[in-house]
Amino acid sequence: MITLSCAEIASLLNGQLIGDNHSVSDVSTDSRTISAGALFIALKGPNFDGSRFVADVMAKGAAAIVVDRPLDCDISQIVVADTRVALGQLGAAVKARLQPKTIAVTGSAGKTTVKEMLAAILCRCGQVLATQGNFNNDIGVPLTLLRLTAEHQFAVMELGANHAGEIAYTTSLVKPDVAIITNAAASHLEGFGDTYGVARAKGEIFSGVADSGIAIMQHDSEFTDYWRNRCKRLKIISFESDFKNDSREASSADIRAERITLNSQGCARFTLVYQNEQVLVQLSLPGKHNVANALAAAAAAIAVGANLSDVQLGLAQMAGVKGRTNIIELNKNIKLIDDSYNANVESVKAAIDLLASYQGYRVLLLGDMAELGANARLYHEEIGLYAKEAGINLLFTLGVLSQSASDLFNGQGSHFSSRQSMLDRLLPLITTQQNVTLLVKGSRSAKMELVVQDLLERC
Ligand code: ATP
Ligand code: MG
Repeated sequence: MITLSCAEIASLLNGQLIGDNHSVSDVSTDSRTISAGALFIALKGPNFDGSRFVADVMAKGAAAIVVDRPLDCDISQIVVADTRVALGQLGAAVKARLQPKTIAVTGSAGKTTVKEMLAAILCRCGQVLATQGNFNNDIGVPLTLLRLTAEHQFAVMELGANHAGEIAYTTSLVKPDVAIITNAAASHLEGFGDTYGVARAKGEIFSGVADSGIAIMQHDSEFTDYWRNRCKRLKIISFESDFKNDSREASSADIRAERITLNSQGCARFTLVYQNEQVLVQLSLPGKHNVANALAAAAAAIAVGANLSDVQLGLAQMAGVKGRTNIIELNKNIKLIDDSYNANVESVKAAIDLLASYQGYRVLLLGDMAELGANARLYHEEIGLYAKEAGINLLFTLGVLSQSASDLFNGQGSHFSSRQSMLDRLLPLITTQQNVTLLVKGSRSAKMELVVQDLLERC
């Protein structure tokens, strides 16, 4: 973070400084990891009150605290009305002062991937600050902005949401030059109601973009017209995102992919076409859905000054993201696609498409997709049918809801109540098959990474 005095911070936050006017160059909301000399912002939630940890942060040498009432303790205090709002204001103020070229990314699936792709491209052009992990909510976004320094030329921010209004808030702090919606699909329906609710919430991202800014969206989504209408004041760049049909017609998207082929790992090679220029791109991440992610990232990178050669090299060299379509050779005969990190309807379908692109015996090990609301069983059935139609050879499910998927897949269900029983059935079965590919997928709460661990130990 840049160095600020407590008096400056108090003025930015409309707060009152009590005590000495120290300077701080680090901010933390976590008493366990705070460093000496940092500013502690005492957040409050339904089940916690950060001000209870003030003695801890003082022992660790914090320079000052931000609290919502004066505390009886010997440390500089900035007293504000609401500490969560104060965190947002401070992040926004630091960003506004430093003015890096800023790109914000939201969507139901692919946010982290697009963010990582953008960071890989833009680091060829200058210093990049990117969201770490999934710090994409009302706390993580301002904390990320507070990591900005004068060296950063670019900021790449992931904005997530599980209820309406969340992205309107975070985009108002970030004020991006460029905003991307990767897609909108059935996810977090308990907070959004239906997929229109999802599209509406994702569309909030454009409200934070200045009039001279750029909106990047799918060319071929059912929500494209809705989003276009929502950001008429912005320049729009549309990216091609539907690659299901190999013999599809040439797209009229602003940025598109031609002549897509997949290598033996399922990673796409294609010609990226933008305006009158084109470049050959080889992705290091598997799956055709990553072609869409790459186009979205390329459009945004070009919008902030990257050229096509930066796009080409950045995408080719980018490393994988843990738990997202990581391909692991378990042995000579069995390949594992570890996509256990998370799941919603769209991302499971994308992963099934990837699995279907492999030769040999293809197995899907599926845990529940969470937060799908009242129609959760229907969505699981949809996945069972989708897997069947894609030609997947075997579907084993684990959890509660996903039983509906295995029921629709083969009419009798290959549903298991424990990892142990699933693997006990699976392992003898696949050793009799040639060239096996296993895909492991499920929502965070399904903990399918434990299946990955078991497979690593037992194969
Ligand atoms: P989260 O909401 O958990 O932060 P995210 O939007 O950041 O997710 P990623 O972490 O990039 O998404 O990807 C999660 C999973 O979604 C991947 O493992 C992949 O299977 C799938 N996925 C990624 N991009 C797309 C896409 N464009 N379309 C469909 N599925 C995708
Ligand atoms: Mg993410």
